[in-house]
Amino acid sequence: MAQQVIGFHFTLKNKAGDVLDRTVPESPLSFLEGSGAIIDGLEEELSKMSEGETAEVIVRPEKGYGFRDESQVDIVSKSKLPAEEINVGDFFQAGSDQHAPVVQVVQVDGDDVTLDANHPLAGVDLFFYLEVVEKRPAMPEEISHGHVHNEGGSCGGGGNSSCGCQ
Ligand code: ZN
Repeated sequence: MAQQVIGFHFTLKNKAGDVLDRTVPESPLSFLEGSGAIIDGLEEELSKMSEGETAEVIVRPEKGYGFRDESQVDIVSKSKLPAEEINVGDFFQAGSDQHAPVVQVVQVDGDDVTLDANHPLAGVDLFFYLEVVEKRPAMPEEISHGHVHNEGGSCGGGGNSSCGCQ
């Protein structure tokens, strides 16, 4: 079957029922099937749904953000961090490269700062409420670029700021 572009709304909750993330009504998320833009567990569900359909699904870590890896937790000296104020919960990019992993401060003990490079949702069961608002065949350009284009078919804008095409 041809690759689809799927637009959807979601509300993400944890097991306790706290809302962790959600789309706003005026801007659903869109992704190109098979492009790896969203977690596997969501793509699997959304691919099966039709436009207008809603569903509640639970995505386990193996199809979500993976499991925690304790070797991704490191203690560094405060002086090595690019900020004056270090607070638990802060995020840093671990390097100057724009693709460097993002780490979170989980503990501050004097000069020792514990950084965790695990995804904040690693090891967490994700409770999604989903609504598919658009489903259409992808345009050949979108397939060759590997991402969704905005209305009118152009790259960039429309939530595609990461678009690197000409
Ligand atoms: Zn493009």
